Amino acid sequence: MTHIVHRNLREAPPIAASGRGIWLTDASGHEVIDGSGGAAVACLGHGHPHVVAAMKAQIDRLCYAHTALFTAESAERLADMLVGHAPGGLTHAYFVSSGSEGMEAALKIARQWAIEAGQAQRTKFIARRQSYHGNTLGALAAGGNAMRRAPYAPILSDAFSHVSPCYPYRDRRDGESDSDYVARLAAELEAEFQRLGPQNVIAFCAETVVGATLGCATALPGYFPAMKAVCERHGALLILDEVMSGMGRTGTLHGWEQEGITPDIQVIAKGLGGGYQPIGGILVHGRVIEALTKGSGTFKHGHTYQAHPVACAAALAVQEAIRDENLLDNVKAMGALLEQGLVERLGNHAHVGDIRGRGLFWAVELVKDRASKAVFDPALAVNERVKMEAFKRGLACYPMGGTIDGKHGDHVILAPPYVCTEADIA
Ligand code: PLP
Repeated sequence: MTHIVHRNLREAPPIAASGRGIWLTDASGHEVIDGSGGAAVACLGHGHPHVVAAMKAQIDRLCYAHTALFTAESAERLADMLVGHAPGGLTHAYFVSSGSEGMEAALKIARQWAIEAGQAQRTKFIARRQSYHGNTLGALAAGGNAMRRAPYAPILSDAFSHVSPCYPYRDRRDGESDSDYVARLAAELEAEFQRLGPQNVIAFCAETVVGATLGCATALPGYFPAMKAVCERHGALLILDEVMSGMGRTGTLHGWEQEGITPDIQVIAKGLGGGYQPIGGILVHGRVIEALTKGSGTFKHGHTYQAHPVACAAALAVQEAIRDENLLDNVKAMGALLEQGLVERLGNHAHVGDIRGRGLFWAVELVKDRASKAVFDPALAVNERVKMEAFKRGLACYPMGGTIDGKHGDHVILAPPYVCTEADIA
């Protein structure tokens, strides 16, 4: 008998008893490789000594002090490490407890920027279909995950509208070149700005690499520069959600480093703290902060646990480990091996439609028929069955159903810890 509202109300999952490196062990002693770090969270695996020691030291010194009165040394050091050198013009960080809270903060600081910049008429956001930005109401309204939105649609804000994602596997037309497809997507965004009135749009929101909703869908070269050009033409901001794809997951610390653009606001979470503590945040461009600083002088937002000292100490230690152990190099090397292994072992499988990703962030899209790309009947719950079979055989992976929009296939994400070895990948 359980008293927890589990994800499946009819059946409680096994109890996770311990974790070490890439391995998780349940209470019955069954061991599995944590092949997706939950949902691309556990970037250092489990029990990393540097992170555990840093957390213990912080707990011994100070667990909590309210941010209305104090700042914490660990939060200051984390911000300094992330934006002290102003990557892409991002100069300030704001720390919260999850990706959804990060997305809410991004939306709110963007709206406040519009007000403080003397453009209070900007009240609209444009995001993308088949995207996921979190489960709180603002983030859910921004997202385009039909399955998660459906029950709450009547209470979601209508400040958000959606355009197509960049999804060549299904959405590129026959014979369409990369640049023609990108130009078509940019024209669609431009048309949406025009429909809303370009002067009314606060920001365009996108995941740099689409995570759970499409399965590691990377943008074509030129896509983000084209989208950013539309935003700049109309004085709107670009919000990049790197909750899943950021903090090293794709082989560079930030996903946008591979896209030739910089965001005005970047949302981070999972790989920030690697699951050692709940932490998310936003990295904000200097010009956004300047508008607020010169204007009201406050960010009219806040949480009891923002910039939590222990969460920030954990995240700081995670980021130090990524830097000091040169883990981004390992992400690239192991990612290439993972890609090669997936293509060799699954590339010709009758039910594998596409294998895509970057760094240590890979998805396999499952289809009923390769030629027609027809999806499986959602009632078959293929993704869940793959998850359970893999779990029995010793691999935890992250599946998602094509039921999200009934259009794209079930997929399974593999996002192993950055510390994994050649033997682990094999
Ligand atoms: N944004 C993206 C891209 C995500 O993948 C997620 C979670 O999967 C979120 C936001 C929400 O993060 P959280 O579950 O920590 O609230």
